[in-house]
Amino acid sequence: MRKLISILKGKCSKCEEGDIFVKESSGLKFGLPKMNEKCPSCNHKFMIEPGYFYGAMYVSYGLTVAEGIVIYLISSFFIVKPMHFFIILAISAILLSTTNYKYARILWIYLFTKKTKKVYS
Ligand SMILES: [Zn+2]
Repeated sequence: MRKLISILKGKCSKCEEGDIFVKESSGLKFGLPKMNEKCPSCNHKFMIEPGYFYGAMYVSYGLTVAEGIVIYLISSFFIVKPMHFFIILAISAILLSTTNYKYARILWIYLFTKKTKKVYS
């Protein structure tokens, strides 16, 4: 449960304290969120090697499909015409693309990083 909260908050996979993405001021932003190169808390390097996040595209694809299925099921109560389904799915895919980009990378980092145990002294 704690790991899920850390994923949702975008915290580092090693220490679960530092932010993976740079916190930006609230408001409507267009463009991709910026990642920290290293964890501000434990100095863990997020991009291990060049091209490390290519695999996150598959995670992003999976997220988009899952969201599309949910949106399709919800909208099927209200919409009958197939063209309207397509329009709603296309708009939702565009609107959720930034969120998918962010969480795909976070999930990718969590998939391939082992957590280190904290040593309290
Ligand atoms: Zn960290």
